[in-house]
Amino acid sequence: MFIVRPESSTTDRADHADLAAGDPRPHAVVIGSGFGGLAAAVRLGARGYRVTVLEALDAPGGRAYVHRQDGFVFDAGPTVITAPFLFEELWALAGKRMSDDIDLRPVAPFYRVVFDDGEHFEYTGDAASMRAEVRRLAPADVEGYDRFLEASEAIYRVGFEELGDEPFASWTDMAKVLPDLVRLEAYRTVWSLACKHVKDARLRVVLTFQSLLVGGNPFATTSVYCLIAFLERQWGVHFPIGGTGSFVRGLVGLIEGQGGAVRCNAKVARINVTRGAASGVRLADGENLAADVVVSNCDSAWTYKHLLAPEHRKRWTDKRIERARYSMSLFVWYFGTDRRYEDVAHHTILLGPRYRELLGDIFDRKLLAEDFSLYLHRPTATDPSLAPAGCDAFYVLSPVPHLDSGTDWHATAEVYRQAIQQRLEEKLLPGLGDAIVTSRVLTPQDFQDRLSSFKGAAFGLEPVLTQSAWFRPHNQSEEVDRLYLVGAGTHPGAGLPGVLSSARILDKVVPHADQLVKKGNA
Ligand SMILES: Cc1cc2nc3c(=O)[nH]c(=O)nc-3n(C[C@H](O)[C@H](O)[C@H](O)COP(=O)(O)OP(=O)(O)OC[C@H]3O[C@@H](n4cnc5c(N)ncnc54)[C@H](O)[C@@H]3O)c2cc1C
Repeated sequence: MFIVRPESSTTDRADHADLAAGDPRPHAVVIGSGFGGLAAAVRLGARGYRVTVLEALDAPGGRAYVHRQDGFVFDAGPTVITAPFLFEELWALAGKRMSDDIDLRPVAPFYRVVFDDGEHFEYTGDAASMRAEVRRLAPADVEGYDRFLEASEAIYRVGFEELGDEPFASWTDMAKVLPDLVRLEAYRTVWSLACKHVKDARLRVVLTFQSLLVGGNPFATTSVYCLIAFLERQWGVHFPIGGTGSFVRGLVGLIEGQGGAVRCNAKVARINVTRGAASGVRLADGENLAADVVVSNCDSAWTYKHLLAPEHRKRWTDKRIERARYSMSLFVWYFGTDRRYEDVAHHTILLGPRYRELLGDIFDRKLLAEDFSLYLHRPTATDPSLAPAGCDAFYVLSPVPHLDSGTDWHATAEVYRQAIQQRLEEKLLPGLGDAIVTSRVLTPQDFQDRLSSFKGAAFGLEPVLTQSAWFRPHNQSEEVDRLYLVGAGTHPGAGLPGVLSSARILDKVVPHADQLVKKGNA
């Protein structure tokens, strides 16, 4: 049942039993091997636990799963790597240096934003180039753009540096930060903050699309997400040689180096609870694993609805989970071409004719629209080894409504893919139809069926103010002791900086393994 894939170097069941035998360390079980789960495992390993990561799929990574197909390497999800210090910290905790394992390259421009009329904007981390681009597009908005960046920095200092790894375990923690949130105008939306500072309609789009990368509608999401502009400016946008999967492999290596294990094809069916505390898990095949602490990296709504029995839940009842708002989903098409498109940047945002109305269809009306705005990823711009010689690897993603749209994706996927292909061929990739040599898609149905995401949402709970911080499912479960949550559906939220920060919070809320050993001996 346990398949060891050469590239994933994970542990099978027999090896796992050997590892566990005679190991006196308290045992931590982590459900799911997304970046939140892998980071949690490294942190718990560094704090004295024997860690077992249980992953339902046949390889680790979650949304960052790697597909290898016809000589092409496709990272399934995250491709914009920012705040690399959050990864470096994990290597340091394991006594290693990240640079020994990961060859991280800066990406420039960060994004090329292409408008429907063909005009484009080169979005970079260089202050002078950015001001020049703003001046070219909207001369009257240069000063407003500077003010927007100042606001972004102020939000970053509080929203990321001070609150990003706060557990928000009680209402009073929330009350303490309210004055800061009011001062920073967190009650505004991302769009409203951009409109306060700049007038040009296209520049407003350039300054607001980033919240979509973490599942937030800029017209509804709190302006706290404007911190992304400063985060990217400060730390850059990067891509590792070998693809995002090299971070997954690197983290699995750190866990194994700490004497932990990552078991694939190990789907958790239940979190076991004994006298009000998590005491282990039961796998889908009936195997029980005892644990001193359990960390769920599975989608928070799914964790509560499907893994923790209703009698143990007071706050996250089925009704409340159903009533909550969920992020949009994504349609992702991975494809390889037998030619290279040298003029196409690593990251392109290809905007359609509508912005606000399209997002209204996706987030509010839950309608699958005929037009779209796309993000095109061309990793071979930075690392040609991800495709055979002379070829390009791509993925294109289109934000779409989650499964409440009622779309039958089995019937719709190919028609939708063809429409995207046509658009790319017209706007960016001439001759695309004849150049495609490999192809696969990921639909909202796959987010639900393959990744256990409630309603097929690509980023978990929607990041609106009323579902942020204390209002989100807590990192230290409100329902049972010794259960913890990491990943996109808990605080602070989706995106790699978010899920790595959620794991960082464990250091504040999970007891050090020594404390459990002492208690056991007392
Ligand atoms: C297409 C796409 C592009 C993105 N691009 C970017 C980007 O460029 N930059 C960025 O910062 N962010 C990006 N994001 C967001 C980012 O990828 C995610 O927020 C983040 O990777 C989620 O990590 P996670 O820790 O929540 O776990 P996930 O990746 O969601 O992993 C959860 C894991 O739990 C496993 N699991 C679920 N149920 C069980 C169970 N019962 N038993 C065992 N295992 C289980 C799943 O199989 C999965 O492996 C992107 C997301 C997507 C989908």
